[in-house]
Amino acid sequence: MARTRQQNVTAAQWTANGAALGASDLTAPGSYPFGEDVFSLDAQRKRLPKDVFKRLQATLHRGEALDPSLADAVANAMREWAMEKGATHFTHWFQPLTGSTAEKHDSFYAPTSEGTAIAEFSGKELIQGEPDASSFPTGGVRATFEARGYTAWDPTSPAFILENPNGALLCIPTAFASWTGEALDHKIPLLRSMDALSKAALRALRLLGDSESARVFTTVGPEQEYFLIDEQYYFERPDLYTTGRTLFGAKPPKGHELDDHYFGSIPERILAFMLDSERELARLGVPTKTRHNEVAPNQYEIAPIFENSNVGSDHQQLTMQVMQNVARRYGLVCLLHEKPFAGVNGSGKHNNWSMGTDTGLNLLEPGDTPHENISFLFFCSAVLAAVNRHQALLRASVANIGQDHRLGANEAPPAIISIFLGAELLKIFNTIEKGEGDPATPGSFLGLGTPVLPPLPMHGGDRNRTSPFAFTGNKFEFRALGASQSTALPNTVLNTIAAQAIDQLSDKLEAQLEGGAETAEAVLAVIKESYAAHKRIVFNGDNYAEEWHKEAEERGLFNLKQTPDALPWLINEQTVEVFSRYDVLSERELESRYEVFVEQYVTNLNIEAETAADMARTLLLPAALAYQALLDDAEGKGVERLEAEIVELTDSFVETIFALEEANAGHPETEDILEAAKYVQSTVIPAMEAAREVADRLERIVPDSLWPLPKYAEILFIK
Ligand code: ADP
Ligand code: MG
Repeated sequence: MARTRQQNVTAAQWTANGAALGASDLTAPGSYPFGEDVFSLDAQRKRLPKDVFKRLQATLHRGEALDPSLADAVANAMREWAMEKGATHFTHWFQPLTGSTAEKHDSFYAPTSEGTAIAEFSGKELIQGEPDASSFPTGGVRATFEARGYTAWDPTSPAFILENPNGALLCIPTAFASWTGEALDHKIPLLRSMDALSKAALRALRLLGDSESARVFTTVGPEQEYFLIDEQYYFERPDLYTTGRTLFGAKPPKGHELDDHYFGSIPERILAFMLDSERELARLGVPTKTRHNEVAPNQYEIAPIFENSNVGSDHQQLTMQVMQNVARRYGLVCLLHEKPFAGVNGSGKHNNWSMGTDTGLNLLEPGDTPHENISFLFFCSAVLAAVNRHQALLRASVANIGQDHRLGANEAPPAIISIFLGAELLKIFNTIEKGEGDPATPGSFLGLGTPVLPPLPMHGGDRNRTSPFAFTGNKFEFRALGASQSTALPNTVLNTIAAQAIDQLSDKLEAQLEGGAETAEAVLAVIKESYAAHKRIVFNGDNYAEEWHKEAEERGLFNLKQTPDALPWLINEQTVEVFSRYDVLSERELESRYEVFVEQYVTNLNIEAETAADMARTLLLPAALAYQALLDDAEGKGVERLEAEIVELTDSFVETIFALEEANAGHPETEDILEAAKYVQSTVIPAMEAAREVADRLERIVPDSLWPLPKYAEILFIK
């Protein structure tokens, strides 16, 4: 398949060591020292013995296991490089199921018998580490007597240096597994899913006539939304610093009604933060691109240029970490919670996803020739089939407690997963399904005998911001991720279910070809059948509309509104089947994830509920009582009316506080984690909401000087 279209990046960007590109490959704006703190391809080339460098690259390119004899040489070069940059310690940097990253620092220096210290870092230390696994969630995979887990170097994601005011730390991206070989992290399944997809896609490409590609990479470009608020307000609010969101707070008189924020000019302090984080990320080899104000006040967005899923996912974790650190330098706090402020748009993460070959071909890019179009339509059909078949699993992959405030709340896609194709593409699929050319359709067949497609629209102009899963020109954009989430699990799911769908279409294509059909004809027949079976997932309309919920139900699409409704799909039979078939996660590994995530839901909700009860009783109720006392000392008709009002409201506040405390104390004795989740969902959440409802009314009448918490208007409008 000879396609030489200019890609917006080089193929190297998504290949094995893609992110380790030197400055020459990807030049960030201005004088950013791009990739300076990364043990990049360039650094490796300069510092490794020639033969070691060659052998290392060859293994990485083929995706093979590393020859241990290389490890010592690599470790040595890496240590020298890191120490020249001021690093004194190294850490295996990994992603436990908490969703954040973990580090265990070790010194390069080892004491000698002479009472001095020498710098050491062996291949063994590079390749394998042994953090205390008992402090990370495993969901029962690791029996209590076996507390050991190990980290293993991921040579496909480049090592980097994190600086802090007192030194520097060499971070080595690693996978985290139990001694019995089970994945305890997000990286291992992601890597396995990338392998599965590559295999399936290569098989399909061969059938489609591509004999060159040797590897297919999935790519990710996450667009991250976040809030920046002044740290003073943050520290004055126990809800913000313990749960990441405000548990109380009346809606400000000015919301985003004025629309003056989106694409408005960026305030100086914010811009300074952005430039600083971008510079820091550039040094770490994370290529960020856009920044602008988002819909809500004090809300912004950052988007990197896409990379292969593994490196892109590591970089996404790093981006969240760097932004949170840099914000503090400017007296700001970066909030990544999905819904920090009730009644104000929350923060999501758009996960742009595609597949590309090592020869530089984006498989989801419609081409200029019919031949390319056929391949595009084949892979596009596979995505439709995969998403339709596993919609509930995709929904589960983005479930967390923060998301329950956002999905379906008319600011983010609903919990119903559907695909937006755009008008042009929809017409083409419909035409194929009907099996005839439609003269009114721009994408009609031009064929004589064999149906041939004209060039497809490269970047379909139409957009649909309400769709959870949208085709956007040369990639699909999974828009239902929450701002705080790791991109690893959703991409693991996407890769795995796409691999399955590609294989199923390939089976059919193979049968057609064996029956003597010509390629284009055979592909169109396969697409036609697949589209007919899966088209219920396609929806180009307004996903926020009430009617869509009804229609989706009629179509048989799932609407899994809250986390406890969605998570069981992680261990559904159909999920277990596809994940074991593609060796991405075993049933036990899936079960452990399910348990960890349900437990996280319960734990986080309990923390919220206890914080809410505590704040209500010790901060807000005293303010209401102080106001009563104030009125007690005053006189007049109006005062009586105010007194009656506050007494009534305070009384009902007391009721809701007691009710919340009872709900918090009333957890069922159960081993069944889902039952515990359902209890908090059905009992604790409503109790919290009831207390909040009264508190927010109190906030509007209690004197400002008595109200102990900074209000939304201050938090959101002071920059
Ligand atoms: P849009 O205007 O559609 O949002 P951009 O080109 O600005 O388009 O892309 C938005 C995000 O999509 C960026 O983070 C970008 O890196 C990512 N992206 C672009 N192409 C791909 C791809 N092939 N695979 C994954 N992500 C991609
Ligand atoms: Mg977008």
